[in-house]
Amino acid sequence: MQIKCSSCSIPFSMNKEEIAKMAALFKENPTVHYDAHCPKCRKATKITKRQFALNPIYKKMLEE
Ligand SMILES: [Zn+2]
Repeated sequence: MQIKCSSCSIPFSMNKEEIAKMAALFKENPTVHYDAHCPKCRKATKITKRQFALNPIYKKMLEE
């Protein structure tokens, strides 16, 4: 999953473990957000369930 840092604007990707964590989090509580930490500036970029579900593969993970 490609994310653009909301602070320094660099794109970075999330690993499988983080994706799995996010899916579990959103399944449990659809109104929360996930904080993805930028590898460069270490600031958190918020990811909502809606953004996560834009990717059909991840959307499927939420339905499992
Ligand atoms: Zn950053």
